[in-house]
Amino acid sequence: MTSTTPRELAVRNPWTGAIDFTITAASDREIADWSARLRRAQPAWGEASIEHRIAVMQHWADRLERDKASLIEADSIDTGYGQISRVAPDMVINAIRRTAAVAPRIMDQARRRGSSPALPHIKYDTLFKPYPLAGIIGPWNAPLMLSTLHVIAPLFAGCAVLVKPSEVAPRFVKPMMETIRAIPELAEVLVYVVGDGLTGQAIVNNADIINFTGSVANGRKVAETCAKRFIPAILELGGKDPVIITQNADLEQAATAVLRGAVTSTGQVCFSIERIYVQRTAHDRFVDLLIAKAAEVRLNYPDPHAGQLSPFIFERQAQIVDSHIDDALAKGAVLRCGGKSEKLGGGLYMRPTLLTGVNHDMLIMRDETFGPVMPVMAYDTEEEAIRLANDSYYGLSAAVIGGDEAEARRIGVQINAGMISLQDTFLTFAGSGVADWDSFNYSGLGGRGSGILTFLRKQALLTNTAEPACFIKEGLKAVK
Ligand code: NAD
Repeated sequence: MTSTTPRELAVRNPWTGAIDFTITAASDREIADWSARLRRAQPAWGEASIEHRIAVMQHWADRLERDKASLIEADSIDTGYGQISRVAPDMVINAIRRTAAVAPRIMDQARRRGSSPALPHIKYDTLFKPYPLAGIIGPWNAPLMLSTLHVIAPLFAGCAVLVKPSEVAPRFVKPMMETIRAIPELAEVLVYVVGDGLTGQAIVNNADIINFTGSVANGRKVAETCAKRFIPAILELGGKDPVIITQNADLEQAATAVLRGAVTSTGQVCFSIERIYVQRTAHDRFVDLLIAKAAEVRLNYPDPHAGQLSPFIFERQAQIVDSHIDDALAKGAVLRCGGKSEKLGGGLYMRPTLLTGVNHDMLIMRDETFGPVMPVMAYDTEEEAIRLANDSYYGLSAAVIGGDEAEARRIGVQINAGMISLQDTFLTFAGSGVADWDSFNYSGLGGRGSGILTFLRKQALLTNTAEPACFIKEGLKAVK
């Protein structure tokens, strides 16, 4: 299926439930036109010095700083978030400045020059050629932050970039494009378009490298198209993150960490804690502590500036979370606090919801839930805990809280996931941009898309400084 004509898409406001915004999805033709235009502008950007690109990117960071209020306002309506929207532009600005500080060194260190050890008269040099057009496709759960963080590395690398955020949360695109248009040189090589999956497909059909953040199902479609086109796909997909809590853990601290990891952003985070395994002797006390802490969490309703839990961004997601709770209860789980989503002022809210008596036959322990739900399961032995944590087709991140760091680390390294938080949960934010990890299983492919080098193809130049080897006299001896 393709989209040849522009289509009007309705956008729901998570705070009110009203459809109060529309976008016109970019058609195949428009994506082809944008791609051609960006490709024409890319060589000048890619061939400019890294210092030049740094200067342009610094200007953009300054402009984002200046326009922060309008970006925050749009992102907050898109997402229903308070605090997360307030820090989203800063995350992007900081990432641009951090990358600017290290970009020359990264590119310099990656360059290889020297003489062949086997044939010292052959010199080699490695050059970098940016992929001309990078396509970035983003999800709805952190629309401004995730779409924009992912443009930074390809821009520094010298690519032109075409971005499509989610159709569920596209309001921030207008103020974002204003920041880009304010810097004409950047506007030549960076464009945000709006649209849905069909627009996304058109980007995958036009770009030279794709960074896709979203669901496993759509990530697979993107990977298939990229494979057919022989272009790289960086896929950052869903998670079903486990936490293991041992009998030696400080249960008070563990409950604090688990609550934060499970309910931040109403659980709409790829690396939210979604499965909780507690050693059987600690199970009941841990559950009591978690229920007591959960009771202190307040909704952002009726005052959007008070409380911690915002409404669901996407109505369909609230239905998925409800269906996971229904499935668990039907299969024998016990609801200990919270419950299914409730409509308040048009928004769909859910209080921190704790289930016990769960098992791996339930959707709540297998599929990504993406809500503030905490299913707790008891285990007996360390081996069993590790087996349960690894019984998943996801492998994004995980957490272990033990009696000490050594115990947590011993267990953590046996979990098949890319980022392991020890003695806490949800440490991914702290590791982004500094630590490095891959996604395991279906949670992704191609490494995290933050590295400049990912967007550069290497080209080797080999020079013979002596006479060419004579095939008749020497045969293949010279190139042993
Ligand atoms: P989604 O797959 O429904 O959509 C993601 C984006 O892909 C949207 O922009 C959508 O329009 C587009 N799209 C849909 N079909 C497409 C296709 N066939 N070709 C190209 N583009 C297409 O995901 P979502 O519901 O928006 O996002 C939530 C998911 O994203 C969750 O699974 C979450 O865990 C994951 N996520 C992962 C990370 C990570 O870093 N691993 C970060 C945030 C979110």
